[in-house]
Amino acid sequence: MSLSSKIFLGMAAGVVLGTLFNIIGTNQWFAADLVAWLVNSAFDVVGQIFIASLKLLVVPLVFVSLVCGAAAMGVNARMGQMAIKTLSLYLLTTAIAVSSALLIANLIDPGVGIEMTSTATYEAGPAPSVKEVLINIFPTNPIRAMAEGNMLQIIVFALLMGVAITRSGDTGNRLLDFFESTNAVIMTMVTFLMHLAPWGVFCLLTKLFSELGIAAIADLAKYFFTVALVLLLHGLGVYSVLFKVLTRLSPWVLLKNIRPAVLFAFSTSSSSATVPVTLNVAEKRLGLDNSVASFTVPLGATINMDGTAIMQGVATVFIAQAFQVDISLGGYLAVILTATLASIGTAGVPGVGLVTLSLVLQQVGLPVEGIALIIGVDRLLDMMRTAVNVTGDCMVSTVVARSEGLLDEALFQDMTDRDEFQEGADEPPVHRRSE
Ligand code: ASP
Repeated sequence: MSLSSKIFLGMAAGVVLGTLFNIIGTNQWFAADLVAWLVNSAFDVVGQIFIASLKLLVVPLVFVSLVCGAAAMGVNARMGQMAIKTLSLYLLTTAIAVSSALLIANLIDPGVGIEMTSTATYEAGPAPSVKEVLINIFPTNPIRAMAEGNMLQIIVFALLMGVAITRSGDTGNRLLDFFESTNAVIMTMVTFLMHLAPWGVFCLLTKLFSELGIAAIADLAKYFFTVALVLLLHGLGVYSVLFKVLTRLSPWVLLKNIRPAVLFAFSTSSSSATVPVTLNVAEKRLGLDNSVASFTVPLGATINMDGTAIMQGVATVFIAQAFQVDISLGGYLAVILTATLASIGTAGVPGVGLVTLSLVLQQVGLPVEGIALIIGVDRLLDMMRTAVNVTGDCMVSTVVARSEGLLDEALFQDMTDRDEFQEGADEPPVHRRSE
């Protein structure tokens, strides 16, 4: 059985068992206490250790891999060109995502007739200014940036280091050898973890579904399914069309190859924790050169959140309808702009999209308490939107690599179920050095 199938099986078993536990718990059936104890001990422990191990690899892998990537690329016009292409595509896809969310939500009207019975309240935190956000991209202390897992700061430092290596002659080359070997070793650690993934996701999802209020979905069915529909249309339709037009390659092959990353994203609800797997998939299954993937993947996990923008678009329409507030055309344009920017500012961790939603709501004068209405179903939607976020990262990364001539097409087309996770360690580093 291929690894993706095993992970999928682990997920499905987790959903079924978790739902069963949920039913036992809610009805206080036989052994309800035992079930609750099991969920909070064994399942929770394994699930949390699994997430911790994934997170453990993010910072070292992003740093080391990007140093190698930047050194391979060197400082030249090509690097700037790649960065501009990546950023433009990330922004474009997010703007398309939120626009289609607004359009479809207005057709379905998920919030019409909603009675404002929610007693929950929600308070928005203070939003950082654009100036602060910009200054914050530049690290004052690389160790602190790594300790805090500040992805953009790590990216800036790694780019600088990689470029400096290429300018330091032999000394630089010796250091690069060290980074390349470290990169290969950390990739092997990702490999270990991917082999444990079926069990990890099984425990994570059993715990999650045993606590998930499925009943809440019934109350908010229209909102839930509108978000789910737009996510599906965007993740399968819009990406496929864009990918086909921009690369002339098969979107089906893309979707099939990225399955492990999408399943990880779904199970962990965190694009950031999924970065090691996304990088592994990008280089070993999609055939992207490390010099592209090491830049586009961590950047995408930090700023490219199409799924999140979709949720924010639908939620804005839903809350406006529930509170019977009309949004003008200018208001919608403001939503598109703010949701695109908010998704950049959304950290790739569970539930943050809901926090940055308050920025969008404030922009069009909607009450942030409206967020309390949708909190009940957000956990499940978070899983789905994170899967779309990661799909977007993979799609754009492949488009950029292809346009730069840095995509190994033979590897991309190779659909055999390679168990690439057992090879890794013996492979020599694949980075090209710039002249
Ligand atoms: N969980 C999402 C992610 O990590 C962010 C969000 O929408 O809350 O991509």
